[in-house]
Amino acid sequence: MRKNIVAGNWKMNKTYQDAQALVSEIDNMVKDEVTADNVEVIVTPPFPFLHSISKLIQGNQRMHLAAQDVSAHESGAYTGEVSAAMLKSVGVEYVLVGHSERRQYHHEDADLLFKKMKAALAQGIKPIFCCGEPLEVREAEDHFQYVGQQLRDTVAHLSNEEFDQIVIAYEPIWAIGTGRTASSQQAQEMHAYIREELSRIFDAEAAYNKTILYGGSANPGNAKELFAQPDVDGGLIGGASLKSRDFTDIIKSF
Ligand code: PGA
Repeated sequence: MRKNIVAGNWKMNKTYQDAQALVSEIDNMVKDEVTADNVEVIVTPPFPFLHSISKLIQGNQRMHLAAQDVSAHESGAYTGEVSAAMLKSVGVEYVLVGHSERRQYHHEDADLLFKKMKAALAQGIKPIFCCGEPLEVREAEDHFQYVGQQLRDTVAHLSNEEFDQIVIAYEPIWAIGTGRTASSQQAQEMHAYIREELSRIFDAEAAYNKTILYGGSANPGNAKELFAQPDVDGGLIGGASLKSRDFTDIIKSF
């Protein structure tokens, strides 16, 4: 059974106090208002807040914790890096890998992304693997080929067992933080393509069961239509995840 997920990616926002307040509000609203059976909620705060937020959401079965990044290295002399074992030890269950902002500003390439996924998986942390094309690729109508290549360069090298543990997020770069959402048709087309590609790489059943999230200017106004698409299994939400009301309304769009 394919799992539906709404994940909030906070990026580099909030102080400790604001983060605590936001997550308490989300936690309460989710408890009071979210009734759908098959929706998992993930919050992805910055590193310094992971431990306290892990404790805060402990009693809520529906809420899960993700980190925004993980080191490809196991441990040792890597100043500033955070290992998968460290994340595991504070209750992290998921980690973003391959977000376009990390690819762009930190020059993370396919080789590094693959190592990060392996490092996370070795600790039982599930990677949320992000893919998506820039505007010029979309305009040249090369987007299917581009996203397919991103998958063939990384995810394709995982074992079947490892693949079962990951989540895919399709995030067209031109839609991230721009207010310009992909249309539900554009999202559906790409999600169906990704699933088809995954069925070629792995097998039809594994691909069918894979949760594929849409990300890029999703908000309470467009989430319902996006989530209604047969191959859209939820969202990776940036801006709108920083407001408890908006985020909860998105979760309730299922
Ligand atoms: P956005 O960000 O919802 O603010 O467009 C999505 C993301 O980058 O994950």
